[in-house]
Amino acid sequence: MDRAAQLARLRETAPFDLAVIGGGATGLGVALDAAARGFRVALVEAVDFAKGTSSRATKLVHGGVRYLAQGNVGLVREALHERALLLANAPHLAQPIAFVMPSYRWWERGFYGAGLKMYDALAGRRGLGDTQFLSAAQTLALLPTLQREGLTGGVKYWDGQFDDARLAVALARTAVSQGACVVNHCAAIGLVREGGKLRALVAEDRESGETFTIRAHCVINAAGVWVDAIRGMDAEPGAARRAALVAPSQGVHLVVDREFLPTDHALLIPKTRDGRVLFAVPWMGKTILGTTDTPSEALALEPTPFASEVEFILSEAARCLSNAPTRADVRSVWVGLRPLVKPSEDDEADDTKTISREHTVAVGRSGLVTVTGGKWTTYRAMAEDVLDRCFAAALLEARPGSATAYLPLAGAPKRSAESLAQPPGEHLYGTDADTLHGLPGADRWLWRDGGGGLSEAMVRFAVRHEMARTVEDVLARRSRLLFLDAAQAAAVADDVASLLREELGAGFDAVASASSFKALAAHYLELPVGS
Ligand SMILES: Cc1cc2nc3c(=O)[nH]c(=O)nc-3n(C[C@H](O)[C@H](O)[C@H](O)COP(=O)(O)OP(=O)(O)OC[C@H]3O[C@@H](n4cnc5c(N)ncnc54)[C@H](O)[C@@H]3O)c2cc1C
Repeated sequence: MDRAAQLARLRETAPFDLAVIGGGATGLGVALDAAARGFRVALVEAVDFAKGTSSRATKLVHGGVRYLAQGNVGLVREALHERALLLANAPHLAQPIAFVMPSYRWWERGFYGAGLKMYDALAGRRGLGDTQFLSAAQTLALLPTLQREGLTGGVKYWDGQFDDARLAVALARTAVSQGACVVNHCAAIGLVREGGKLRALVAEDRESGETFTIRAHCVINAAGVWVDAIRGMDAEPGAARRAALVAPSQGVHLVVDREFLPTDHALLIPKTRDGRVLFAVPWMGKTILGTTDTPSEALALEPTPFASEVEFILSEAARCLSNAPTRADVRSVWVGLRPLVKPSEDDEADDTKTISREHTVAVGRSGLVTVTGGKWTTYRAMAEDVLDRCFAAALLEARPGSATAYLPLAGAPKRSAESLAQPPGEHLYGTDADTLHGLPGADRWLWRDGGGGLSEAMVRFAVRHEMARTVEDVLARRSRLLFLDAAQAAAVADDVASLLREELGAGFDAVASASSFKALAAHYLELPVGS
């Protein structure tokens, strides 16, 4: 993961088989799958791995219980299969977690319990534990701060949870170890056509301004909610503007202290007042509350929550928790944009196929392959679909699949005894913990929480082994402190900047990096008011 060495590979003139745009779950999944099949792959990410939606998930590795209600059994079965593979391939970053669904109406326990028994049956031997019917007392024992009034019982079932941004970094590292060339802070700024066919992409190193013409047999557009900007680059000269593929919808999460849900069990409210679901999930020593689903036109890298979304989450939390959190209790608020795929209109005759599992792969006339939608849990299956489409469109010669099904990701131990509900610590490094210990500052803590926190060695590891280039890369996506406690993250920004300067050399502007991070942290603490 030496960035200079990766950039040197972009200067090579021999064409790559695939050039991938976007270093979120989707692009990294494609890069890894292709590299594992022996293709020559380059991936460029404009900002940092998982800077977009892929660091802002609810952190659930799930089969999608709600699809069962829609009768979409095949979709659920596949996601449950992917859930099992992910938990096995990255046990340091993805683990089982028990959910409790409380019931306040007599019929709810039986109704939801029956559906969840079906969920168990679909998981089969890949199940994580049996669904159990709970009495009111048992429900309260698992969720001690639950509203007691009117509680009739509950249902306990199993799914998974994960550290999304660290998983993205693990995918990048694994892709590199399989031979891919992967670079962050390097944006696709143009596409090169020859005889109407895509032949290369032009990328710019955001640090040095150097540009690269990356020749490739096949260009994959995995830019999340930004895929339409890349499709715009691919337009025929003089052609009319193309219809957008993506209609973004934003989802807000609020993070509060663990005391509001002092348990390792997650809470699922299956039906809020307006018919949505609400989660309260223990994660890394805190509780995540969310989420919302609000159409949003702006494609900001750092979207802003609407006041109504914050209000909705807090008021729903107040209905189900006896010690309701208030605005003053929020340690961090973050917003993700869902790349929802619009029903296809004619768009320059792209061969668009909306696959039942919610993602879309479109092959344009020039050969640009656009993939968007889906969910983190199924990133691996999506990657296989993308490669299948490349083969079908004769952009690449077919090679056998399933190369990643049993491929452990970087740092994966055989199994992990620690829970992701606990504060972050060395357990997230899996087999890399030894390397971490060998670095200076393994016992010097910038921030301490329980047995874990953020050590000086973790910052050095982020630079040396995880391609971190800025204070934000470290505090938002290598450590997750920005997402857990934005004020605390701002408080350690200067220390992190000094360490980055030691690691990256005098060319690194520590003052600018720390101050832009502090401005970002202020955004993660800002709760809008009004209607
Ligand atoms: C609120 C919310 C909650 C969710 N919760 C879950 C969950 O619990 N479980 C689950 O399985 N799924 C969940 N999802 C879905 C999941 O997070 C997304 O499906 C997934 O992260 C999308 O990944 P992506 O790679 O397609 O997009 P992104 O992660 O957005 O990646 C696209 C990348 O492309 C880069 N890019 C853009 N333009 C360029 C360019 N010109 N050059 C180079 N790079 C560029 C961006 O910087 C970005 O990093 C959730 C989604 C949301 C919004």
